[in-house]
Amino acid sequence: MVTEAPLTPLIELREIRKQYGGNGDAPAVEVLHGLSLKIHAGEFVAIVGASGSGKSTLMHLLGCLDRPSSGSYLFSGRDVATLDSDELAWLRREAFGFVFQGYHLIATESARENVEVPAIYAGMPEDERAARAAALLTRLGLSDKLDNRPSQLSGGQQQRVSIARALMNGGRIILADEPTGALDSKSGAEVMALLNELADAGHTIILITHDRDVADQARRVIEIRDGEIVGDSGAPTIKQALPAPDMTQAGRDAGASFWDDLREAARTAWRGMRMNRTRTGLTLLGIVIGVASVIVMLAVGEGAKQRVIDEMGSLGTTIMYLGSGHPSNGGPPGRLTIEDLEAVAALPEIGHVMPIIGDPVTVRYGNVDRQVYAFASAYVMPLVHRWRVGKGRFFTPAEDRDLAPVVVIGHKAWKNFFPDGSDPLGKQILIVDAPFEVIGVMAERGADSGSQDYDEMVFIPYNSGRMRVYDARAEPDYTVVEAASEDQVQAAEAAMKKLLIERRGRDDFRIGNAAAKLQAAAQTSNAMKMMLGLIAAVSLIVGGIGVMNVMLMTVRERTREIGIRMATGARERDILRQFLTEAVLVSVVGGIIGVASGLAIGAALLFWNVAVIFSMSAIIGAFACSVATGLIFGYMPAKKAAGLDPVIALASE
Ligand code: ADP
Ligand code: MG
Repeated sequence: MVTEAPLTPLIELREIRKQYGGNGDAPAVEVLHGLSLKIHAGEFVAIVGASGSGKSTLMHLLGCLDRPSSGSYLFSGRDVATLDSDELAWLRREAFGFVFQGYHLIATESARENVEVPAIYAGMPEDERAARAAALLTRLGLSDKLDNRPSQLSGGQQQRVSIARALMNGGRIILADEPTGALDSKSGAEVMALLNELADAGHTIILITHDRDVADQARRVIEIRDGEIVGDSGAPTIKQALPAPDMTQAGRDAGASFWDDLREAARTAWRGMRMNRTRTGLTLLGIVIGVASVIVMLAVGEGAKQRVIDEMGSLGTTIMYLGSGHPSNGGPPGRLTIEDLEAVAALPEIGHVMPIIGDPVTVRYGNVDRQVYAFASAYVMPLVHRWRVGKGRFFTPAEDRDLAPVVVIGHKAWKNFFPDGSDPLGKQILIVDAPFEVIGVMAERGADSGSQDYDEMVFIPYNSGRMRVYDARAEPDYTVVEAASEDQVQAAEAAMKKLLIERRGRDDFRIGNAAAKLQAAAQTSNAMKMMLGLIAAVSLIVGGIGVMNVMLMTVRERTREIGIRMATGARERDILRQFLTEAVLVSVVGGIIGVASGLAIGAALLFWNVAVIFSMSAIIGAFACSVATGLIFGYMPAKKAAGLDPVIALASE
């Protein structure tokens, strides 16, 4: 079958010039001096010339890996200067297949995976891709080398892999730069035979060589010398030609679905991480330490804070203690009277006033006989201690005033004196030698009952206690004074002090401001928690910088791989996504390990009795931060990789 050459050439160069340098230090050097050239679909052209004559430069221009300094390049009638970077990537995918002198295979991927790369960017489904890559490699005689890495293949085999890769997306135009240059003569002959076969099948072949004998195997020979065409054997009749890609579709393909892309990127990223175990391990360590310390430090901070809050919960944040004491200038201690306490209670800044006498005394019921703390106080005790009566009731002000012999017992006291669990209400117990009727049982106070176990105590009205148990003691052991509100604690202390000095004429009393201490402790523990959180956040940032450092190194090391991917049709966003995925994968894995180690360390601390409270928000937050760190610190290197110029990337070692 003989086809007339179509009117529009597949490739048309008009007065193409290419300069290098000229920006800054290096003087501009013109390498191509106005080349004009037409190549039709289905041609097998050899471009031959001495080393340094500009052949590779020309090939990069033809393959849209580089742009000319001036002149125009029409591809299938369309000026490629009008194509944006996605459309150029599309053209490289759809139209071109590159075969390089140095093969340019990705060292970390198997033969089959290398062949699959262009199809990944074209969005071919995974099964179809694998099957087609295997079929191509089998056709090129590599059926038993599918899983070999490039380093496990001979030069000839590697070159055949790169030809298979060039054909993966159809390879309508094969651009081969010195494809036989690095091969022994037998492998070289095989490669040439292969190119001839492809030309017969209608592929357009553009072969670049410095070797006349190789060039003579093509069907048209164009000679180039010092950047100018000095000979052209002319276009022969074309037997068969694959159709040119439809330029109206340039850049229109959707590529792979988002998830396929992501999976592909994750797969590559995972491989990259495994190839560099030590480095990945160290980066992971940075993230793990960051995440784990955020979780542990916040949990410890929260635990410490909660401990203070518990203490405040049992005592209240408004509590002060009042007792008699020696005046500051010496002299005998004072004796606070009931009238003094009543005057204090009348102050507007003061809430409840609760005098207390308490000592361990002998308490007896039936045949049980124990030393128990008998707590003589006012009817407001449950209010002041934020403590409920579990059973029965507490005593009333009237009972307190009337010296009623009634008692409310602690939860453990009930268990101790009534081991059979029987109802204690209405029973008479002996405190020292006085009978008291049980009228209530306090609710269980549990863990926060402090050094003295409140649950074991018994509670009696102040006046009956003073008269019947404590031998009419003249004054309370101490008095609990409540400020009217939390923010009046300081004012209440000052007012009370002023009043008592006025009444008594000297400072023969002591005020202990537990509330102020607790408030200060709460503030300190809050500050400590913030500081711990800050330290942890800093270590997370340091981990992030580690990720960035590694990613920058990775980009530098893999510049050539990036070039290869771009030459086979990767868009900028494909490269960006790949490197971002790697960064995020490191931080996700680091985050997961970090959360696990944080929980483990916290559990160990709990075992050692350190108060630790994990918060879900800290765990999720730390994990989210580590992923965000990966994204943020991975972005710059990824952007750098995506912005690389394909030719420059390919040329790097
Ligand atoms: P060939 O492939 O025919 O050996 P090249 O196209 O590689 O030739 O190079 C042609 C000329 O351009 C050479 O003199 C080379 O030094 C120069 N050259 C190639 N690439 C660059 C570059 N990136 N910057 C500056 N000069 C370059
Ligand atoms: Mg060259």
